[in-house]
Amino acid sequence: MDKLRFLTPENLDQIRIDFGTPTFVYDEDTLRANARAVKNFPNAFGLFPRYAMKSAPTAAILRIFNNEGLGIDASSEFEVERAVRSGYGTESISMSTQEFPENFRFWVQDGVKVNLCSLNQIHKFGIWGGGESVGLRFNPGMGSGGTNRTNVGGPASSFGIWKDDLEEAKSLCKNYNLKVDRIHTHIGSGSDPLVWQKVAGMSLDLVRAFPTVKSLNLGGGYKVARMADEQATDLQEIGEPVKKLFEDFAEETGRKLKLEIEPGTFLLAHACSLVTTIQDVTSTGKEGYRFLKLNAGMTEILRPSLYGAQHPIFVIPEEGQSKFRDEVEQVVVGHCCESGDLLTPAPNEPESLSPRMLPRGEIGDSCVIEGVGAYCSSMSAKNYNSFPEAAEVLKKSDGSLSLIRKRQTFEQIIENEVVP
Ligand SMILES: *Cc1c(COP(=O)(O)O)cnc(C)c1O
Repeated sequence: MDKLRFLTPENLDQIRIDFGTPTFVYDEDTLRANARAVKNFPNAFGLFPRYAMKSAPTAAILRIFNNEGLGIDASSEFEVERAVRSGYGTESISMSTQEFPENFRFWVQDGVKVNLCSLNQIHKFGIWGGGESVGLRFNPGMGSGGTNRTNVGGPASSFGIWKDDLEEAKSLCKNYNLKVDRIHTHIGSGSDPLVWQKVAGMSLDLVRAFPTVKSLNLGGGYKVARMADEQATDLQEIGEPVKKLFEDFAEETGRKLKLEIEPGTFLLAHACSLVTTIQDVTSTGKEGYRFLKLNAGMTEILRPSLYGAQHPIFVIPEEGQSKFRDEVEQVVVGHCCESGDLLTPAPNEPESLSPRMLPRGEIGDSCVIEGVGAYCSSMSAKNYNSFPEAAEVLKKSDGSLSLIRKRQTFEQIIENEVVP
């Protein structure tokens, strides 16, 4: 991985001059290619892929996926509203949320689909929603995340109705006259075909318990390889055994289920790079480290601090400077007054420094961080140290660069404050 994925030296110059840094740059070609790969997921009786918009919710990105024919997985009522504003029809949106909104019935009346994710959510919705169709999200009792913090199934995860509460969920739905037409399990299944097969099997058992169910949603969680030693998901490989299980299920029960999937990471991760500037270099001597300090950090990318996530990092000398730099071990840190603001932690160990071999960085150089499309811009420590939210730019298929989100102004940072 010694070449930038989609940015050219000319792009970097233009970004520095026209937009400034730090700036997120999304690549339209990659977004569309990933959407097409998702639409090709193996399926027996039809597929409806959704985009898990919490990974990157900017309108220009939503537009591209709408244009590609993807639906939406929303994780709050605010995301529903955001998707509608960007042009999505309500019927293509499904919401699975940890915090069920009080007035969600109005969205359901308008066609938004809902997956109820706890017994309490069934109560909350049931009191109003007699006769409505709903989906139920279950925790099937097993998970497969990269780390404990990305594991969203099994006993250590609060997401979904616990598998042993199946009977209670069933009788609640019956009492409230809710028709269950979708089952949903998102456990972050990763890249292992055997795990997918197992989870699909467990999920089909849940479908068996609800004769009115017409579709099964297996969530997202397809891993991508940001670093050379990481394991990427082959959608064809994990999808084939799942397709077979759907066919067997149809043979056994006569029910031809539709498949839904809703990736975020897979669609976005490689489709964005963050362009930053090295604004300072310090050293703690022979026993210590050489630190490159960026003009960005956890205010843009929190994943390394949160999970010890690894991202490709490129040091690119400023125009006019010698292009040749020897490679040395360096620690890359962000601009926040917070020792956890670290871009080179040890893998899965956010608290350990892990110096990386990189060209010797100097003040004024560009530093590009790749693999930042998913859960970076959308999940940052926004405005910490009162730094403004970064700009976002789209590299369009014709090669041109367009602003899709302006850099936040100072006024916007303080606009809601009131001094009594
Ligand atoms: C976050 C989320 C997804 C997407 O997960 P990825 O790991 O980004 O693919 C899908 N479904 C639900 C319910 C989610 O909460």
